[in-house]
Amino acid sequence: MSDSLERLGAEGYAAFLAERRAQILERVAEAAARAGRDAADVEVIAVSKTVGVEEVLLAHEAGYDLFAENRPQELRRKLAGLEGDARATGITFDMIGNLQTNKVNQVIGNVRLVHSISSAHLAEAVAKRSSARGLVTDVLVETNVSGEQSKSGFSPDELRQSLDVLMTFDGICLRGLMTMAPAHDPEAARRTFCGLRELAEELRTRSGLPLDVLSCGMSDDFPIAVEQGSTAIRLGRVAFDDEYALE
Ligand SMILES: *Cc1c(COP(=O)(O)O)cnc(C)c1O
Repeated sequence: MSDSLERLGAEGYAAFLAERRAQILERVAEAAARAGRDAADVEVIAVSKTVGVEEVLLAHEAGYDLFAENRPQELRRKLAGLEGDARATGITFDMIGNLQTNKVNQVIGNVRLVHSISSAHLAEAVAKRSSARGLVTDVLVETNVSGEQSKSGFSPDELRQSLDVLMTFDGICLRGLMTMAPAHDPEAARRTFCGLRELAEELRTRSGLPLDVLSCGMSDDFPIAVEQGSTAIRLGRVAFDDEYALE
């Protein structure tokens, strides 16, 4: 259980989740309008990695359908906790975190989309294990646009070089790109998201793939991401933590 649920109680927390969701959707609508985009083209994904099953159910009641986890073990725990619960109808999960090849089997078939394909080796592992089970897994290629050492994923140049190989893997469908921006630096975030969009456009032209999913934007920078073309924002603290101040 999170601090917020403990502090506010179930009823108070449910009210917070609904009010916060409305504020988030308002920010998304404003940012989309500034960019001449349709807010309906932006998916809001509730990152539930720091909260429990009860919070996920309350958030679903507040209007979220799409959730994301960053660890396979926690994904399994959530799915097990939700299984057979009628209130969980309509909930789907994405995988957004570092994925080791030996954990791939815990993830495929259990998620709508894997955002975090950070190497050709991982792409191949997901593809092989999906194929073996007769599945095609939708994936995004995690791209280190900002070039920060601490970030995982393909550099833009690596991705330019690897795309042809990634496209040969049966068992995965390349849907688009994902990135994370440097923290606490709005202008760097803007450049990063803009760079992701331009890279996707370039690869789209070259490959003929639609690559129409751009997963970028988190609690601190999602309005900037929407302005720069994000189609999937991944929100953790701002969605679930009542002590996180939404400006
Ligand atoms: C935790 C996490 C998020 C959400 O982060 P917040 O800043 O809490 O919104 C988004 N993407 C990834 C990959 C994460 O691990």
